[in-house]
Amino acid sequence: MVVDTEITRFERYLADAREAGEKRAELRRTVRGLKFDTIAVHGMYSVEEAFSSGQGGIIEGIYPSTSQAYRDSDEMEAGLSYQIPTWCYSRIHNPTVYALEETLALLESYGCEADATALCTSSGMSAIKQAVEPFLAFSGPGEPINFVAGAQVYGGTFQLFNIRMRERGATARWVKQPWQIEEWEEQIDDSTRFLYAEMPSNPTQVCFDIKAVAELAHKYEIPLIVDSTVATPALLRPLEHGADIVVQSLTKTIGSGGFSLGGALIARHNLVSRHLEDEARADFGTWVKLWPFRDSGPCMSPYSAFLFLNDLRSLRMKVEVMSKNTFKVAQYLDGHAKVESVDYLGLPNHQHHQLASRYLKMVDDGAETFGHLMAFTIRGSAEDTRRFFDGLIRVFRATDLGRIKSVATIPAISTHQQQGEEGRDLAGIPPTMVRLCVGAEHPDDVIADLDQALAGI
Ligand SMILES: *Cc1c(COP(=O)(O)O)cnc(C)c1O
Repeated sequence: MVVDTEITRFERYLADAREAGEKRAELRRTVRGLKFDTIAVHGMYSVEEAFSSGQGGIIEGIYPSTSQAYRDSDEMEAGLSYQIPTWCYSRIHNPTVYALEETLALLESYGCEADATALCTSSGMSAIKQAVEPFLAFSGPGEPINFVAGAQVYGGTFQLFNIRMRERGATARWVKQPWQIEEWEEQIDDSTRFLYAEMPSNPTQVCFDIKAVAELAHKYEIPLIVDSTVATPALLRPLEHGADIVVQSLTKTIGSGGFSLGGALIARHNLVSRHLEDEARADFGTWVKLWPFRDSGPCMSPYSAFLFLNDLRSLRMKVEVMSKNTFKVAQYLDGHAKVESVDYLGLPNHQHHQLASRYLKMVDDGAETFGHLMAFTIRGSAEDTRRFFDGLIRVFRATDLGRIKSVATIPAISTHQQQGEEGRDLAGIPPTMVRLCVGAEHPDDVIADLDQALAGI
């Protein structure tokens, strides 16, 4: 308690906020010491908070309100000048979204010495845009700017990097074999602002050595940004291996129920970048939220945050079941005469099996686990592939992945359609490829569906 009666009302707000902040930091230190599942289930919502502001509810409240009221002009001024924690207006910040952000930051920095801050956005794409844009500011007219990225990225990311970023004068330099560290180094020069890659990539499951590429980035004083949507923090936490920023499409496995779109960037404190000011480097997640994100507006709805929080509680167990199911399905397809090849990191014949075994491990138990994304190619033509695809009865045809239900797509005619044949070749996407994401159904039933559809070609 602050007892000095001489202080002004404004100062009182600052002092109270400091006291509350210290309490919160202490709680956060305690929560950081808990196991992954416990953090996923509870986040920062405590029994104490349930009684102090949550009506005793065992679940966090949902705050759909667009804005926050202030007690008086002093509190309003302190809040809107960012001198006390506040949420002001839901485009900037929102209590329900914040509950999700705190949980995600804790899960992505689990087992990592560095602390991290998360920022949730309206979609995975907007998270990627918010994560990369601050590094692309011009410091002089006509200055060339580039960034170096693994070529096997999500179709939307390819378009963002190749077209939208080029429109604003930043060139994407693609690394065709991101598992080869020399290829990265060949592309870096004085105008390179960051390195970027997916681990593993969607849909071809290309892997790269996060630790080695992070060290390379830091040698040039630039950050490494990793999209680990396919792995989720249940299997991989890139910050632990030296990455500076992680981006997640929450829409996918984290939101496996399939109720809403969302994204997140999770940034380590004191990240490496010779292009950012100290304040932005110190806590990139908060800085982006308070400034560029606020000014662009891709905020997450509190309703979506509430659904993601719910899905996140059981993330690890779902990833475990779905990974096991995928392994069984991959083994079945691998032996099928009408299947040309199977891309699944869990199969020892996958080009990146070794690298994946080093990085993809079930949190807290350490078992090599490879997720629920796989791809395979049909032995035959593009038409045969479509006939197989059209024959599926239980597996849904959808440009989606990460679901509790099995979904399949033909990337060449869907997710990777817009980038043209050249872009698809670069990403290694033939027209006979089927991407399959196995859900939590019994694997025998998924196999039976695939089996009858393959019999039809
Ligand atoms: C889907 C996806 C994205 C984009 O996320 P949205 O939520 O659809 O905007 C980015 N990266 C990867 C790996 C994805 O699978």
